[in-house]
Amino acid sequence: MAIASINPTTGETLKTFSALTAEQIEQKLQLARDTFRNYRNTPFADRARMMQQAADILDTEKSEFGRLMTLEMGKPIKAAIAEAEKCAWVCRYYAENAQQHLADQIVKTNAQKSYVHFQPLGPVLAVMPWNFPFWQVFRFAAPALMAGNVGLLKHASNVPQCALAIEEIFTRAGFPGGAFQTLLIGSEAVEAILNDARVVAATLTGSEPAGRSVASIAGKQIKKTVLELGGSDPFIVMPSANIDEAVTTAVTARTINNGQSCIAAKRFIVAAEIYDQFERKFVEQMKSLRIGDPLEESTQIGPLATPQIVNDLEEQVQRAVKAGARVLTGGNRIDRRGNFYEPTVLVDVDVDAPVSCEEIFGPVAMLFRVSDIDEAIRIANATPFGLGSAAWTNDAREQARFIDEIEAGSVFINGMVASDPRLPFGGVKHSGFGRELAESGIREFVNIKTVWIGEPQKGTKTETE
Ligand code: NAP
Repeated sequence: MAIASINPTTGETLKTFSALTAEQIEQKLQLARDTFRNYRNTPFADRARMMQQAADILDTEKSEFGRLMTLEMGKPIKAAIAEAEKCAWVCRYYAENAQQHLADQIVKTNAQKSYVHFQPLGPVLAVMPWNFPFWQVFRFAAPALMAGNVGLLKHASNVPQCALAIEEIFTRAGFPGGAFQTLLIGSEAVEAILNDARVVAATLTGSEPAGRSVASIAGKQIKKTVLELGGSDPFIVMPSANIDEAVTTAVTARTINNGQSCIAAKRFIVAAEIYDQFERKFVEQMKSLRIGDPLEESTQIGPLATPQIVNDLEEQVQRAVKAGARVLTGGNRIDRRGNFYEPTVLVDVDVDAPVSCEEIFGPVAMLFRVSDIDEAIRIANATPFGLGSAAWTNDAREQARFIDEIEAGSVFINGMVASDPRLPFGGVKHSGFGRELAESGIREFVNIKTVWIGEPQKGTKTETE
């Protein structure tokens, strides 16, 4: 099987790779296990030194890494370079904090001494998506390697060059050869790897079907999993909000990464009192976005990553229109080379139509008018997903209700959802389970071991005797 790197702006094939053979996979699994035996005992200071080195490489070569991301999956170059910088940040965050996050925790009990001790689990398989081709991998790898695990990356098949570049960063940073390995394989090879006893856990960031598949295989094998899946995040705007700021943020939140972000705001739920003003300004700004070659610094919207994503988007918009939606702007693929789709605004989407709460992965926004906060919360929660959410209001009581009542892994008040190494990240409902980043993230792939030491028994010689 061939794995191809195809430029979504031009359709040109940049490089092709042969998928690993069964024998090559076997060698890599064995290397992962052998490396883990020693690597698990490396002092935190040594791991931190290598992780800082990885951060330095990312910072120094951010322009090259950014260009590679843009060429392979089409994100605007400025965002791609910022992604490389953010990866350096997460490496530094864990280099500086891992030891403290995993320090023994003394707990007073009736024992002479009892405490919680954290130990790495072993080789962890990471199945990753193309949309943040560096960030998704580093936010898994930095905590996993700092905890003493080793990583095996099965990256999305359309970003093989990014996958290999990341492996090289860890090698150049000084990590032992088997500490982080890229497996160039298709998704059909995942099951056998998950069934292999040398792989002890898995994390998947991707779509709901992929999550179901990986979780069910891992479930049968009783292996720990973390799932970061899709989202249909609400972005609520109430009358007390600063409307101009809310509109500008809303447009960014919908179109970030050409609209292909799990935490992109996808459903805009706006109070009736301010709805018309919000709609007018939102449509104006969506119309004015600069579409073009993502390698140009001024481009705000580049191509979608694959032709299939354009097809899916087209089908979803057509379905929404059939269910009564009106298109205020956009609604079509763009007649040019590459996978381009117009920034689109849909209104009057039937809240009972499935498309109203599906994940829409592209620059297509749906606006909903609501009469009060109860209706806003009801629509916000009317989705199988529960990843992020944003609510704009300066009313403290409304803020408290959104924080308490929205079913999501995060609530951002007067802001847009974003990941940050210092804060846990993850979802509820069909958006997955487990958390990445912060202390919670590094505790996912460790054995939380209880240690209980009894009082010295009578007649036992102690050191003071
Ligand atoms: P995807 O099609 O699910 O692919 C993600 C990864 O899973 C790829 O490596 C893919 O490999 C692999 N995969 C697909 N089906 C699989 C299966 N049955 N068994 C094992 N592996 C399988 O998702 P995507 O299109 O790359 O990414 C977009 C999705 O990711 C969206 O739903 C988005 O919301 C979600 N996402 C979530 C987060 C989060 O943090 N919650 C972050 C980013 C993205 P191949 O490429 O070889 O098929």
